[in-house]
Amino acid sequence: MTRRLQLAALPTPIEPLHRLSDRLGVELRVKRDDLTGLLVSGNKVRKLEFLLAEALELGADTLITCGGAGSNHCRATAVIAARLGLGCRLLLRTPEGLPEPKPWTGNLLLSSLAGAELRFVTPDAYRDHEGLFGAAVAELEAAGHRPYVVPEGGSNALGAEGYAAAFEELLSQWPEADTVISAMGSGGTAAGLVLGRRRVGRGPMPVAVNVCDDEEFFRARIASILGDRADHDLRILDGFKGRGYARSSPEELDLIADVARTEGLFLDPVYTGKAFLGLMQTLASRPGDLGERVLFLHTGGVYGLFAEADALSRSR
Ligand SMILES: *Cc1c(COP(=O)(O)O)cnc(C)c1O
Repeated sequence: MTRRLQLAALPTPIEPLHRLSDRLGVELRVKRDDLTGLLVSGNKVRKLEFLLAEALELGADTLITCGGAGSNHCRATAVIAARLGLGCRLLLRTPEGLPEPKPWTGNLLLSSLAGAELRFVTPDAYRDHEGLFGAAVAELEAAGHRPYVVPEGGSNALGAEGYAAAFEELLSQWPEADTVISAMGSGGTAAGLVLGRRRVGRGPMPVAVNVCDDEEFFRARIASILGDRADHDLRILDGFKGRGYARSSPEELDLIADVARTEGLFLDPVYTGKAFLGLMQTLASRPGDLGERVLFLHTGGVYGLFAEADALSRSR
């Protein structure tokens, strides 16, 4: 048994979405992984339960990780570092052509309040984040620290264990679900769900909506996480990244407001808003394609709403 810390409030509930179910013609429920905690909320904490168990076992005193400037993963890592009494350095990708975001808001503000050391890098430099990790490790070690690198999105084989375990959790809560659909950004969540389903040999088919890149990219990415291709046990709904990573369209922002007002459920602009649009458009064009009982995995991201405050208030 792989070691695991207890960092998330589990199990997260599954709730019915009655009005949206009526509208969409399926039985739609939501697994509230946005409720894994207030400040560690979202999907990353499930992966971090496994990754940080390893970090502590190795005697680490500082975490290093990376992501976009408004990264949920970086915020969750920064908060957990503070909870465990560890240092934390974040390598944050600035938006294309822009300097570091000011004023800090959303996840960025929370990461800084949690005491993380923020290092902003251009999108160009970020492409070699593995190289940047190496340099940060060398620098921290030279200063007498014991750094532990958490991969981007927490998405490696060990981090994926978090969603293998989550699959068993959701299966016990709603064994009749036909599909479980979630947003995909670094592939670890989808890889974990596939792994969990393989282990138990039954349960809902994982369906992932990529919010960046394309299906081919993620097939390769998931193969590298699992050490094995997932061509038949993962469906990918490609074509819903819209304007691209962390860029919202008016249609996506309208949907976020619509779901908030219809069900009191808040989606986020970077991940779950795009995934939900993918779910709705798939059901509209191919009814029955996702089965009759559909579980939407809400992976969190609520603080991203504040980083989009301008566009969201203009669209109202
Ligand atoms: C990171 C993230 C995802 C994507 O999960 P991956 O495991 O990186 O594919 C989805 N939703 C939210 C809110 C996230 O922060």
